[in-house]
Amino acid sequence: MIAVFGHLNPDTDAVTAALVYAHLLRRQGREATAYRLGELNFETAFVLREAGINAPELLESLPAGHEVALVDHNESAQSLPGLKTLTVTHVVDHHRLGDLETSQPATLRFDPVGCTATVLLRLHLEANLHVEATDARLLLSAILSDTLHFRSPTTTPADREAVAFLAPIAGVADVTAYALSLFAAKSDLGDTPASTLLKMDYKVFPFGHQDRGAQKWGLGVIETTNPGYVFGRQAELFSAMNAEKAAGGLDGLLLSVVDILAGTNHMLVAGPSEAAVIQAAFGAAVQNGVADLGDRISRKKQIVPTLEAYFAG
Ligand code: MN
Ligand code: MN
Repeated sequence: MIAVFGHLNPDTDAVTAALVYAHLLRRQGREATAYRLGELNFETAFVLREAGINAPELLESLPAGHEVALVDHNESAQSLPGLKTLTVTHVVDHHRLGDLETSQPATLRFDPVGCTATVLLRLHLEANLHVEATDARLLLSAILSDTLHFRSPTTTPADREAVAFLAPIAGVADVTAYALSLFAAKSDLGDTPASTLLKMDYKVFPFGHQDRGAQKWGLGVIETTNPGYVFGRQAELFSAMNAEKAAGGLDGLLLSVVDILAGTNHMLVAGPSEAAVIQAAFGAAVQNGVADLGDRISRKKQIVPTLEAYFAG
């Protein structure tokens, strides 16, 4: 049995890609089961509820050698602990290639598009398989989520075409209204503890070179239609960030607060060393622990590559 899962601190794409890819593998005669590596965020819980399906089971570990298919990630720092002891048989992803190693030839599919779901749609079409209605709804939701309904600079024409193709199959008549309901669900954070807010969309990245000053940074993102709520909890978030920085043995920690509708990023910066890096790497001033990064709303396309270049240089 192949265990199919997306990254830690799963977002909608990570969860739905695991469900849809496991289903596709089963339709192609493989035994495959979808899992998740963490709690659902509010948006993903909404998507699954609307689709009328259960969340995949939580996975915490697997025995050495177990077959796994990775979706929506490939870097070990974002995956199941002990990934290097497992047998990666498949990867479907739309991120940079990190430290992926396979012990045997594997099926790898990376496309530079806005969402894993767009790649999964292509895999269905290439295999001459129709997309079932529930899968179509999951894929559509993931694309709207990952691209912030096409606002993110990661959006490609293929993502727009995929949504246009999937909407009638999914029975979503008004895509704009559905996207707004996703964002509303995502932004309804209630009294979620600050430590949970920090980790809801959070990834650890290695930067620099092993032999000269390698760094490990935690980069969180809160995408919301209500940034005022998040900034109202700034003090709590700063203490959660510093606690996580110490607990994770990190060199830096940043938390982007992305205003989905305005398309802006105001980044919370854990301390003075992070502030110096943000100033040098992005030319952005940091005031009271907040950096105005303007329209740089994509961690993948606009934050990580700039930090990578900064630490490589
Ligand atoms: Mn993701
Ligand atoms: Mn994704």
